[in-house]
Amino acid sequence: MTATAALLEKLRLGLPPAAIVTDPAAIAPHLEEWRGRGVGATPFLLQPGTVDEVALIVRLCAEAGVAITPQGGNTGLVGGQTPQGEVLLSLKRMNRIRAIDPTADVMTVEAGAILANVHNAAQTVGRRFPLSLGSQGSATIGGLISTNAGGVHVLRFGMMRELVLGIEAVMPDGQIFNGLRSLRKDNTGYDLKQLFIGAEGSLGVVTAATLRLFPRPVGHLVAMVALETPEAALQLLQRARDETGALAAFEIMNRTSVKLTAALPGVRVPFDPPPPWLALLEFENAVAEGFRDSIETMLAGAIEASIAQDATIAESEKAAADFWSLRDLMSAGHRTVKTPQVSHDTSTPVSAVPAFLKNAGAAVERLSPGARIVAFGHAGDGNIHYTAIAATTDSPFPAEQISAAVHDAAYALGGSISAEHGIGVFRRTELVRFKDPVALTTMRAVKHALDPKNIMNPRVLFEPV
Ligand SMILES: Cc1cc2nc3c(=O)[nH]c(=O)nc-3n(C[C@H](O)[C@H](O)[C@H](O)COP(=O)(O)OP(=O)(O)OC[C@H]3O[C@@H](n4cnc5c(N)ncnc54)[C@H](O)[C@@H]3O)c2cc1C
Repeated sequence: MTATAALLEKLRLGLPPAAIVTDPAAIAPHLEEWRGRGVGATPFLLQPGTVDEVALIVRLCAEAGVAITPQGGNTGLVGGQTPQGEVLLSLKRMNRIRAIDPTADVMTVEAGAILANVHNAAQTVGRRFPLSLGSQGSATIGGLISTNAGGVHVLRFGMMRELVLGIEAVMPDGQIFNGLRSLRKDNTGYDLKQLFIGAEGSLGVVTAATLRLFPRPVGHLVAMVALETPEAALQLLQRARDETGALAAFEIMNRTSVKLTAALPGVRVPFDPPPPWLALLEFENAVAEGFRDSIETMLAGAIEASIAQDATIAESEKAAADFWSLRDLMSAGHRTVKTPQVSHDTSTPVSAVPAFLKNAGAAVERLSPGARIVAFGHAGDGNIHYTAIAATTDSPFPAEQISAAVHDAAYALGGSISAEHGIGVFRRTELVRFKDPVALTTMRAVKHALDPKNIMNPRVLFEPV
């Protein structure tokens, strides 16, 4: 009997039938990378319903020397959730809201809770969980923690790391770490929960978290602004921050990205023809009085100073949702292109975004003349999603060299090769090239200390040795 078959027999003794799936048709959707970048393989899928069941699974896998790939909503963009022979552990059945305390502004949820459901639960008690991104209808709290997700409100609320007060996790030997604290202040040594945030499932299985909640905004307004250059976008960012004090999101999109996305059904662009750059600004405030006036004055000032070419404010929640829909569908927009393409998730200091776009663009043009650039993203955080697309199917398109050049351009400006998506499997080789060697050695030492058998998601972060 193989190790996995023997393991399955032991698991059947300790788990309810609903927690074990062996039907290939039921497993298949969990093995597909959503953009079609590879298909995974697993001997079976486990779907525990409680933390004790997760602990049993991990302990038995560790004893059998069989590796585990945890999975949440399967929306990850770096391949870390797709097993290649490991046991697949889906947290989707662990999706309960365990507790909400609007006085303490905290909420404890299980790892499989979908972000949109967490938003709704917070709303029922007059509060808000501010993490927001295009995949919020599928991405889970466990996945968002494990990738330290960012999204569109980092400018105001920070990344997932800033929004988590406590974590419950199953360690690689099956012990349960109960770190579900809701304290704002707790200086009692190493903050172990931080190890699991951004670990991509390599140090254990996150089973629940205590999250920070916030008051719901009273004033809410979304605007689109037409711009000539990324430099103008930075000037607008500064004005919007300084003059309104209410900026919650600042996204930019270049004309190529807007045109490709506008071709999708139901997508509207407020300016015709689309300008070289579009900025989407979201404002939020605790008081409604004077709120709209301050934004209108700021936008009029930006136009007068020739920073902005034009600006429009969404006059209804539906119009605001349409503005956001253009931004949220950006990835889907360029996926329809048939010529080769390669994508990146870079960050630089905010002030270096224009230089990054210029330098990366020149490098791509050298390697693939005529290539189109799709550039959009969270400019307020210095985070640009940058895709090079070959001009024709016959054009030279050395994808690896292009990626290396784009990463070099970000790194040379003090930037990062992964702003918010993580390293996963797709960026492992590049991590070695850019990460500080001492940091990389320390990361390996932490992994070895916590997971000496290399059970937990062994393919992410590190190149196989
Ligand atoms: C349309 C779209 C827009 C997106 N926009 C953004 C964006 O703006 N900002 C951003 O940061 N990301 C964005 N993403 C990426 C993605 O949504 C995030 O990576 C998300 O955090 C992954 O959550 P998930 O539940 O789908 O995790 P999965 O994809 O299932 O897993 C992601 C990683 O986390 C690990 N993992 C999952 N659950 C657990 C757990 N409970 N314990 C331990 N490890 C676990 C997996 O092994 C894997 O390595 C976007 C994705 C899409 C499809």
